[in-house]
Amino acid sequence: MSVLLLLAKIQPAWIYRLTNALARGAGVRETFEAQLNRFFDMLAHAMDTGDPAWLDPIILDWSNSPTTSDLRAGEKNITAVLNQIFLMTYDLIRENLTEQEALDLTGALIPIFTHALEKAARIEMETSIAFISSELFEVQQKLEKLDRSKSNFIAVAAHELKTPLTLIEGYAAMMHDILRSAPNGMADSLMEGINNGIRRLRAIVDDMIDVSLIDNNMLSLAFQPVWLGQLLNLLANEFKDDIASRNQRLTVRKFPGSEQMIFADPERLYQAFRNILSNAVKYTPDGGQITIDGRTLPGFIEVTIADTGIGISLEDQEIIFEKFGGLGNVSLHSSGKTKFKGGGPGLGLPIARGIFEAHGGTVWVESEGHDEVRCPGSTFHVLLPLRTEAPDPKLAKLFGSQARQIAESTPSSPKDEQA
Ligand code: ADP
Repeated sequence: MSVLLLLAKIQPAWIYRLTNALARGAGVRETFEAQLNRFFDMLAHAMDTGDPAWLDPIILDWSNSPTTSDLRAGEKNITAVLNQIFLMTYDLIRENLTEQEALDLTGALIPIFTHALEKAARIEMETSIAFISSELFEVQQKLEKLDRSKSNFIAVAAHELKTPLTLIEGYAAMMHDILRSAPNGMADSLMEGINNGIRRLRAIVDDMIDVSLIDNNMLSLAFQPVWLGQLLNLLANEFKDDIASRNQRLTVRKFPGSEQMIFADPERLYQAFRNILSNAVKYTPDGGQITIDGRTLPGFIEVTIADTGIGISLEDQEIIFEKFGGLGNVSLHSSGKTKFKGGGPGLGLPIARGIFEAHGGTVWVESEGHDEVRCPGSTFHVLLPLRTEAPDPKLAKLFGSQARQIAESTPSSPKDEQA
């Protein structure tokens, strides 16, 4: 009897047993049965022609379907399935055929199965090598970014500390020369130059001190009654001139919770919101819109600061909260050449996060991505505990993780929830 007829003899039991052994659930079973029938047809062709390559397309299809988690776990799904198919085929042959028939059929099947297994193993190996390489590439890029944020420290220290120092030195030298001969009025403008330099220097030194206080868990808060609506309006007022000079619009909405008294450190909260709002102004082109809004959540108040600026790519949305994680070009910071593409020292957001977390809250950003032409915008979300009395400061950190959990399980847009 020809090997093809022998093969056909075991086909019904073969399909039935393999489907039951390998597929679970009615839907999966149907698809799997169709796949097995296709496999069986190809197997018959391979045996008929003596060319095992007939099985290649189906093995290629099967091997190209691993999920990312299969790949991460290093699962060898297809070789495992093929192994099982071959072992069960062998059992069926022994059960259904005479010894001689079994010998003939197995002899014909072994080279075809061996070819199929080798092919599947090679594809799986290539797929997992490609996957591992892409994972390694991603890790390498992340490490390079972190490395860059460390070397940003040097760039920031060089630029942000040396520039105002140079200004102060220059103005002081000019003042020294001029005071000897010039009328007294000249001294005022020179003093203004010196004061500007001192202000910039003080700001960056203060930020560096704040960052080290936060890093060492030493930020202490003076809890007092605070009304967020008032605080945010005060802040908006401070930015009035900046906003007007950029032709931007700032809207501060009244929201549930904005008029409620909570216990917080008003100065630190103001500083944290200020850092976020100043970024919104800085990274939004002229004519853009900034909106402050919010809502109450169980135990928390959420404030959102949304802009129509250049946006932040997904992979950078965590990095920007790392110190010196600024993404812009520091040297463009104060340049008149660009209105909104510059970077800063990269301390504003880590300080803001440190302050919110010390309150037992948290902050995160949502943005479709970074695009300086399309300007998809960014929305910063701040969660603050709805605290009606001053807490023990040591407990505040404990609440931080609770706030993060709530943040993760809460719909991202306040509008979704209110609708
Ligand atoms: P910087 O001093 O660089 O502004 P921050 O810590 O305040 O430092 O912000 C870190 C980085 O996050 C910025 O360099 C910028 O690239 C990005 N960023 C912050 N806020 C925004 C925003 N509203 N829109 C776009 N990018 C932003």
